[in-house]
Amino acid sequence: MAKILLITGASAGIGAATARLAARQGYDVVVNYNSDSAGAEAVAADVRAAGQKALLIQADVSDPDQIDAMFAAIDAGFGRLDALVNNAGVVDQTAKVTEMTHARLRRMFDINVIGAMLVAKEAVLRMQSQGDGGAIVNISSAAARLGSGRQYVDYAMSKAAIDLFTKGLSDEVAADGIRVTAIRPGLIETEIHAKGGEPGRAQRLAHMVPMKREGSAEEVADAILYLLSDQASYITGTCLDVSGGR
Ligand code: NAP
Repeated sequence: MAKILLITGASAGIGAATARLAARQGYDVVVNYNSDSAGAEAVAADVRAAGQKALLIQADVSDPDQIDAMFAAIDAGFGRLDALVNNAGVVDQTAKVTEMTHARLRRMFDINVIGAMLVAKEAVLRMQSQGDGGAIVNISSAAARLGSGRQYVDYAMSKAAIDLFTKGLSDEVAADGIRVTAIRPGLIETEIHAKGGEPGRAQRLAHMVPMKREGSAEEVADAILYLLSDQASYITGTCLDVSGGR
């Protein structure tokens, strides 16, 4: 039986690369997206072309009702869940703290923190009732260590919350055989930079990386699939930097 993997934000970037690699490694994949239905359909088609099942679910992770509907669809479509990549996330326009509004902070934390927690909660409930363990990889950021002053301190804070959530949740569920880890990507070439108003950001800042280059979504996907795998069977509660040394 193929393992069932839910990836939030799988229509683009790191989530899409992870879905494609997971299918090649034998997972059936729940492809969640918010607005990019064309991107999500292309990912689902690639999962099926690799010989695996794909379930496409639109759900905004900042809306608890949509999270509930997503898990109802997973229950109906697959009837179980073995693994989660908690990847959906946003940045915002570059700004100083003195320029940030309440509405901006709400959006950032509703998607990046509360959404990720509620998705993990629903995944854990299913893994616990199945009784045979599971694996969760949360997608943090090197920003959680760097603070991102003059860029997006709010985003960095949201990812620092993900790091601590990873440790706390891992302690709660370790005895159930559920491993919870995080990846901190560094500068990765995806569309997220353009969505934050800075296309070319990854290449522009690559000189600050000890390895002197940006990373690819595929390089992050490799690390995610490792942490999900049985090869990482004694790893939980920790964060892995995939950041070229930065
Ligand atoms: P991306 O290319 O912009 O992809 C983001 C994905 O998240 C898309 O599939 C998007 O779906 C989804 N998403 C956004 N808001 C959502 C919501 N409210 N509900 C459900 N899905 C939502 O970004 P990426 O670079 O791959 O980023 C993926 C993760 O890596 C994020 O958590 C990000 O913070 C983290 N990260 C990225 C970098 C980097 O340099 N790229 C570095 C560190 C950490 P739709 O397009 O369908 O709306």
